[in-house]
Amino acid sequence: MKNILTIDLEEWFHANYHDAVFDPLKTYEVRIVQNTERLLALFNEHQAKATFFVLGYVAREHPQLIQDIAAAGHEIATHGYAHQLIYQQTPAVFKEDVSSAKKLVEDIIGKSVKGYRAPSWSITAKSLWAWEILEELGFVYDASVFPIETYLYGLPSSPRFPYHPEYKGKKLSLLEVPSSTVRILNKNIPFAGGFYFRALPYPLIAQCLKAVNKEGHPTIVYLHPREIDPGQPRLTLSRKESFIHYYGINGCEKKLIQVLRKFEFTSIDGYYGL
Ligand SMILES: [Zn+2]
Repeated sequence: MKNILTIDLEEWFHANYHDAVFDPLKTYEVRIVQNTERLLALFNEHQAKATFFVLGYVAREHPQLIQDIAAAGHEIATHGYAHQLIYQQTPAVFKEDVSSAKKLVEDIIGKSVKGYRAPSWSITAKSLWAWEILEELGFVYDASVFPIETYLYGLPSSPRFPYHPEYKGKKLSLLEVPSSTVRILNKNIPFAGGFYFRALPYPLIAQCLKAVNKEGHPTIVYLHPREIDPGQPRLTLSRKESFIHYYGINGCEKKLIQVLRKFEFTSIDGYYGL
């Protein structure tokens, strides 16, 4: 069966950490173009299609890159504009951030955008109102929920597989596509992207992918372009955040290639026919 590949298209300095605050007025080294071109070449070589959740900032700076991704047959979705955590925003600020990012990307590709993913999985118990706004803005699906709990994100009460969320007693038509986990000792354990993907050995990741497939669902793999880029400039972070941010960067591309060789991948809209 096919699995799902997703890329959060943002720069090396966009992660939400306490110790590194991105200043929109400063100039930073551009890494996104070469990293994305590398990903596109790998996906092409392995006949994989993906969903790219494009940050508005990146779309504004590199419209040609977004056109190239779309021309290669991948789905373009949005990751919002400025990569701020939703639960630190008001609903009005969130709505403005997402609608401006959606419009920007739609103008670049000449097509409507169906999907949204929050910065750092920040639809949590504190920000469930975001679902209603996404529906209002015309999104077909959301892929922002991680059914685990961490210091930065998580909605442990979420189902593990796609569902229509209820908000204020009303079932929404928006489809929530939660991030993949495996069930071990009655716990949801993440494995399919970001830090977890960089930290775990390939045989274990492959086993988890197969376990999710055995339950009748695709695994949703997620990565950022910076995760295959050992040459990126290093941010000054605390030990904990540095570990989460940089651990396993050197081996990540190789592991991605192993996964691409073994499993077939498509985009979210491709898989669910949205
Ligand atoms: Zn992000």
